[in-house]
Amino acid sequence: MAKPLTDQDRRKQISVRGLAGVENVADLKTNFNRHLHFTLVKDRNVATKRDYYFALANTVRDHLVGRWIRTQQHYYEKDPKRVYYLSLEFYMGRTLQNTMVNLALENACDEATYQLGLDMEELQDIEEDAGLGNGGLGRLAGELLIGRCHLVFPQVEEADDWLRYGNPWEKARPEYMRPVHFYGRVEHTADGVKWVDTQVVLALPYDTPVPGYRNNIVNTMRLWSAKAPCDFNLKDFNVGGYIQAVLDRNLAENISRVLYPNDNFFEGKELRLKQEYFVVAATLQDIIRRFKASKFGSTEFVRLDLSTLPDKVAIQLNDTHPALAIPELMRLLVDIEKVPWEKAWDIVIRTCAYTNHTVLPEALERWPVDLFQNLLPRHLDIIYEINRRHLERISKLYPGDTDRICRMSLIEEGDVKKINMAHLCIVGSHAVNGVARIHSDIIKNTALAGHVQPRSCLTHLLNLQKIGEDYIRDLDQLKKLLDFVNDDAFIRDVAKIKQENKMKFAAHLEAHYKVKINPSSMFDVQVKRIHEYKRQLLNCLHIITLYNRIKNEPNKQWTPRTIMIGGKAAPGYHTAKMIIKLITSIGDIVNNDPVVGDRLKVIFLENYRVTLAEKIIPAADLSEQISTAGTEASGTGNMKFMLNGALTIGTMDGANVEMAEEAGEENLFIFGMRVHDVEALDKKGYDAVSYYNRVPELKQAVDQIAGGFFSPSQPGLFKDLVNMLMHHDRFKVFADYEDYIRCQERVSALYKNPKEWTKMVIHNIAGCGKFSSDRTISEYAREIWGMEPSLEKIAAPDAPR
Ligand SMILES: *Cc1c(COP(=O)(O)O)cnc(C)c1O
Repeated sequence: MAKPLTDQDRRKQISVRGLAGVENVADLKTNFNRHLHFTLVKDRNVATKRDYYFALANTVRDHLVGRWIRTQQHYYEKDPKRVYYLSLEFYMGRTLQNTMVNLALENACDEATYQLGLDMEELQDIEEDAGLGNGGLGRLAGELLIGRCHLVFPQVEEADDWLRYGNPWEKARPEYMRPVHFYGRVEHTADGVKWVDTQVVLALPYDTPVPGYRNNIVNTMRLWSAKAPCDFNLKDFNVGGYIQAVLDRNLAENISRVLYPNDNFFEGKELRLKQEYFVVAATLQDIIRRFKASKFGSTEFVRLDLSTLPDKVAIQLNDTHPALAIPELMRLLVDIEKVPWEKAWDIVIRTCAYTNHTVLPEALERWPVDLFQNLLPRHLDIIYEINRRHLERISKLYPGDTDRICRMSLIEEGDVKKINMAHLCIVGSHAVNGVARIHSDIIKNTALAGHVQPRSCLTHLLNLQKIGEDYIRDLDQLKKLLDFVNDDAFIRDVAKIKQENKMKFAAHLEAHYKVKINPSSMFDVQVKRIHEYKRQLLNCLHIITLYNRIKNEPNKQWTPRTIMIGGKAAPGYHTAKMIIKLITSIGDIVNNDPVVGDRLKVIFLENYRVTLAEKIIPAADLSEQISTAGTEASGTGNMKFMLNGALTIGTMDGANVEMAEEAGEENLFIFGMRVHDVEALDKKGYDAVSYYNRVPELKQAVDQIAGGFFSPSQPGLFKDLVNMLMHHDRFKVFADYEDYIRCQERVSALYKNPKEWTKMVIHNIAGCGKFSSDRTISEYAREIWGMEPSLEKIAAPDAPR
């Protein structure tokens, strides 16, 4: 448990955060007590910590309400173009602190809770993460949303025991419930095509407010929950059928019950396809309804011209997961609104844009045609028609080039006929982008830069008053830090803040994980999903090498390291689970070896999620970004570490490339193969065994893993892992081993010189301007959505009473 703050601690906090907003304290206390009494129906004798958290959350939420309503009114009056960010994941983390910061209520709430004898940080820790995401793709959606979103962002909704105690932030909107159809058959009538005999599931929207940073704008994240209709299957029940019909209701409601836990992996399950269509169908109805109801749209007297849809609506597809938006919008326009095909297709293309997140083949969505035929027969027809016209155009452009036609078809022939969803997105969008330049180059498209939410992680490091508060709005201001890179006092300040963050994280680890670490050791951190391409195994080989070196020369001045690796493995990904097992096994041996002492510790961080990211990233000295070049589309973790004063050891992959460009390559620890080296090695044939035979320390490490050195009670435990590394490693771990180890030696050497280390840190922080989510959004706005990004503010409403 966090210990209560002393008055001195509190004065320090207030002086760091500034005093703005403290005048609300009395009102906040009144409202807190009112919620405890009326909302939670508790008095202070029986209230739990969770009750206090809810009272505080409700008190803060009250400050959102007026702004939220006003924002909607403002948009209705102005009728601006609206951007709909369609995603199957929104990895949001916690809401309370972000809301307080964005509404400038943090100091006042801190003071109010203090005066009530409570510890605000302890209350904040009660909030569960909104874990509607797996990794970077979902987190990016969350960050862009928090960053500076422009309106309604829908998504499939909740799973998890996250909601066991209720969610104070969301509001159900049953009045906007929408039917979503599945199965059935297609009927061609004189009145056009009809999709009939379908099963209906209702989509119930839940809205979560998303406040902008001190601009009084509160946008909406709209999540959809599946509800069975009242008469679900009940019309055809007989005596025995009634029970089944009631049970089937649950089946229908399962659509929104779970989030598939894969990151960068396509699992072609029918339930997943249902989820994807469910989000898309509910959202598109919502979009068309809002378009028709807009002030400058049609009334019942003016016939609505849907060809103006792209002037008012932009749909951004977060990977191919919501790709069905393309055929669904076609269906609504052609079948329901009776727009001719060519005109409808033009509207769809001008409305939709697609962001690609990966080039790993196992991640690409390719749905069997049979599944579609059964679940979404009308959409299959529409996709076939889109493809027919698409291939017709290609064969006109490249007559006789059957190879190209096969390559570019939306339908892949083979044992199982499949729909290539990435191709569908490319054909049905006016803009396609990757998430980092190298990735965009790889997918042969225009570049758009990377993405970091500047507020969420940057709570600790940069309150240095040197560059004022402007950096929060405009990360380019960070460049000004370069003026102080030789200022000894500033260097000391930066180092001191990092040290404080490390102490704080060490205390957290001790309290929650019962492990003691040496806070003056280098915190060497790799946190991200466990995946072969991210190469946690390369990190493991370095750890083992370091261990063996210390054992060989125990009296040498080794730079002490605490190596922390964290991340979840998808439940069905056996190799990833074995990698975790290897990390903990290495830890068991290394951490208990008296010769090593506290010069090397290996810790696996369980349950890595947004909340833990926000704790560990500000405490990290070294950020491990070591994927095989050409495999990480961008990464977002890499930028978060950079902004928070960690140095990067990494390959020239994803956004590392642009980070090196911005900070100067000499200020990162870059090693290993470049993309063209990987391609060359592929041509030649990668032979892991030859590295094993040639490099003695590599051989020793691999032999130790294979021989059970780290798993004495189960010597053969890691034989599959070793077999993979030696004989079918798609990600070429051994090829980068030697350069990685040499690079790590440079890291250790520099760490011995705190001043030079910190100067390099300052160069890195100063180079972060390019990676703000505000900038990313602005670029999307100009280059994809055809609108001017605005930094507008609206007037604040009265404070709640
Ligand atoms: C940033 C972030 C990620 C993405 O990390 P990468 O290193 O880019 O893979 C994943 N999970 C959480 C909780 C994050 O905050």
